[in-house]
Amino acid sequence: MPSRQNRGTFRVGYGWDSHEFVRGIPLKIGGITVPYTKGLGGHSDGDVLLHAITDALLGAIAAPDIGSLFSPSDPKWKGADSAVFLREALRRVRAAGYLVTNLDSTLILAAPKIGPHTAAIRRKVAELMGIDGDRIGIKAKTPEGLATDDAAIAHAVVLLEAKPARKSVRKHN
Ligand SMILES: [Zn+2]
Repeated sequence: MPSRQNRGTFRVGYGWDSHEFVRGIPLKIGGITVPYTKGLGGHSDGDVLLHAITDALLGAIAAPDIGSLFSPSDPKWKGADSAVFLREALRRVRAAGYLVTNLDSTLILAAPKIGPHTAAIRRKVAELMGIDGDRIGIKAKTPEGLATDDAAIAHAVVLLEAKPARKSVRKHN
């Protein structure tokens, strides 16, 4: 039976997001601009992957979700760089006493092909999250049978581990 001290050593988080394609705006995925004729609409820059990752981080520490912290109706977030949301989620994760162990994600979109951009997305997400690229899974699939060709969908899971306890002076020594 795990000891009480070990309870909460790990936390898992899950996030999901979708955005509709809109002609004539930049396509931001994972913090990079992917060349395409359409981008993702919605509040902020529509970065579906960073939104899913942000929600996974917030969910892991039972914090309010991205829509609660950064209301889509608040004009402040119109066109905002989604890295701002991710940084706030990471700040809350650290404040709760956790580090990110790894992240896995899946993008689901009919076009454009994400394969050629996977390495660049991984590098950017690694930089934003402050973890090595070999702790970041970026996968992409086409939406077979889902009839979601006008949208991009992202799923993300994160594993957090408790920060190592700081050495403190023992009381009874
Ligand atoms: Zn979103």
